[in-house]
Amino acid sequence: MSSTLSIALAGNPNAGKTTLFNRLTGARQHVGNYPGVTVEKKEGFFTYKGHEFKVTDLPGTYSLSAYSVEELVARDFIVNERPDVVVDIVDASNLERNLYLSCQFLELGVPVVIALNMIDVAQSRGIEIDATRLAELLGVPVVPIVARSGQGIDELFAAILQTAEIKKTIHPVLLRYGSDLDQVISEMLPLIEENNLLTNQYPARWIALKFLEHDDQILEKARQANADLTNKLLQLCEAVTAHLQQTMEVYPEAVIADHRYGYIKSVLHQGVIREKFVGDRLYTSDKIDKIVTHRLLGPLIMAAILYGLYTFTFNYSTTLVDLLASVFSAADTWVNTLLPDGPLKSMIISGVIDGMGGVLGFVPIIMFMFFGIAVLEDSGYLARVAFMMDRIFHFFGLHGSSVMPFIVSGGIAGGCAVPGVMATRTLRSPKERMATLLTVPFMNCGAKLPVLTLLIGAFFSAHQARYMFLATMAAWLVALIAAKFLRMTVLRGESTPFVMELPPYRFPTLRGLVIHTWERTWQYIKKAGTVILGISILLWAMMTYPGLPQEKVDAFAGQRQVIEEKLQAMQGNNAVTGTDIGVRQDGGSELKAELNAINSKEAQAHLRNSLAGRIGIALESVSRYAGFDWRTNIALVGGFAAKEVIISTLGTAYSLGDVSSNDTTSLKERLSGDPHWNPVVALAVLAFIMFYAPCFVTIVCIAREAGSWKWAFFSMTFNTIFAFALAVCIYRIGMFLGLGG
Ligand code: GDP
Ligand code: MG
Repeated sequence: MSSTLSIALAGNPNAGKTTLFNRLTGARQHVGNYPGVTVEKKEGFFTYKGHEFKVTDLPGTYSLSAYSVEELVARDFIVNERPDVVVDIVDASNLERNLYLSCQFLELGVPVVIALNMIDVAQSRGIEIDATRLAELLGVPVVPIVARSGQGIDELFAAILQTAEIKKTIHPVLLRYGSDLDQVISEMLPLIEENNLLTNQYPARWIALKFLEHDDQILEKARQANADLTNKLLQLCEAVTAHLQQTMEVYPEAVIADHRYGYIKSVLHQGVIREKFVGDRLYTSDKIDKIVTHRLLGPLIMAAILYGLYTFTFNYSTTLVDLLASVFSAADTWVNTLLPDGPLKSMIISGVIDGMGGVLGFVPIIMFMFFGIAVLEDSGYLARVAFMMDRIFHFFGLHGSSVMPFIVSGGIAGGCAVPGVMATRTLRSPKERMATLLTVPFMNCGAKLPVLTLLIGAFFSAHQARYMFLATMAAWLVALIAAKFLRMTVLRGESTPFVMELPPYRFPTLRGLVIHTWERTWQYIKKAGTVILGISILLWAMMTYPGLPQEKVDAFAGQRQVIEEKLQAMQGNNAVTGTDIGVRQDGGSELKAELNAINSKEAQAHLRNSLAGRIGIALESVSRYAGFDWRTNIALVGGFAAKEVIISTLGTAYSLGDVSSNDTTSLKERLSGDPHWNPVVALAVLAFIMFYAPCFVTIVCIAREAGSWKWAFFSMTFNTIFAFALAVCIYRIGMFLGLGG
């Protein structure tokens, strides 16, 4: 360490910088101008307890954007001169506003000590501030001082010296800026990092933010460094700006500021500030928050709102679901009459229509769910949910930043673990991050939703909304317990304090809601139309080939022939005698039933002999402990590729062989009518699907985010073993209690 420590005094205008500066330097000061601008620059030297200090009084600013010369000067000084410690003077009587600047220092990742000045003024206004709590939440030292009297200066210097020593290990604080901006930031980061765009001066994330804020200075520097990349990044920014304009009528700058204030608000919410005279200084958002995030009322309101969401989704989407189901069964019938029997027809009906129908049939439910979530998100309520869950999360060894990844992954049902896994990047503690990463796939993502809906509809049909709500609660419970387990075993360690952003409440615009809903729904449809279609056809092929050996086919054909001949003979007889019609027709329909039985026996034999069938049967030796038959096994194996496939595969497995009959019962009816299935089996399958290995894409993401395949493999085996054990318990206990009848 150089013998002279350099410190910079930063803060809002009138926070007391100059007062502190004069107190420290006395007469040893130099007043000049910053080069090229008329902003006054004051520098001074002094010794304190044997340490040499050089101190600079920066111009007062409210922010570190490039809107004013003062802001630019202050920012450039900090970034270019790299003072050993930035002392951020904060006016304690006006904490919320002053912390806006502090928040940006934290994001910039510079070594900072917060001097909580004017506590005398704050006290006289009845404001009490818990500096220790504030320091804990922000992760930097906070020292209460009175610059005018010199109170607290010793403590301030102790903190400065300590910070100067550890300055190498300071990390920038990561805030979240809502799903739209977080998404684009996560796209920009790798581009910035790979090309080292200004990264020797600023943290990559900070550069991304400045792009979004359209910071002219940074843009100019970036252009000089790499014009192509700058244009590329700007294109990303323009896209998200247009999107925000369309959906919420705001600019990224405003969203960023909102979330910074939200961060501060939630810091202050957590026992940092106590005001004796509350008065009418509360804004509407704060008033709402007083009730909505209340310790007791808050969770009740949350449960009621979420339950309302489920009721809304399931009650209002049924008509559309039924409509779509009849469209798909009409398509089945149509293809059935149009095409000749054969592999093409079987592929189109079993592979394409039933497969896709299984996935697309649930679009209305998904759409209603997404709409409800969009309302919660756009209004700002979702952030409160996260805020409340934060307390619970600590108990389970997770971090407040884990809440959003959980919700994104399907915490309210209907998300996706892939962005959820990526959203764990905001967690700084590696162990908390790993525990989050490994447990987010337990949530009910949009792909599991249809399977759950189907099974609930088929076996517990009366109260779909209630059961889905329960399934969501179960997912949370299991995820949290699993996290606790991981944090007590393989990921043991300290937990770190945390704060969540609470952006102001806003009335969602209809336009915004519609766009957000449509975007997510479209993603789902697109996936169904591409990836899922491909896998569905592949699985159909696996379930079709190799066909039965010729002699068996001939044997079945022979049996059919016998019955067909009998039928013909009977029709001939009828025509001759014209009597006893009732009896003979009965005999006819018996024969027809026999014919159908042969057909379905052949289909069964065919499926059993196929590649997929053999896999399913091989697995039956294990899966029978949980009551899964081989056809279910095929679907579950397909689910490794993508969870949507489970439903389409069940559809195919249970529709194969119906090609020649005109039977167009829905999968739901087929399952509830199948002797292998009953409510206990359904519940065991349900539990298994909720918790077994994440889909392939998620596995790849986990490997990437965790930095090794070891964890991806762990997630796959851990989840599958756990899910299977649970399914076995459910099946055994359920059957023992005789609930499977
Ligand atoms: P600057 O704009 O940050 O340089 O703020 P100044 O140092 O000029 O201070 C603004 C005003 O606040 C001056 O009138 C100071 O006397 C007053 N002031 C500074 N620190 C304190 C303090 O701790 N308590 C009180 N009561 N007043 C203070
Ligand atoms: Mg001043």
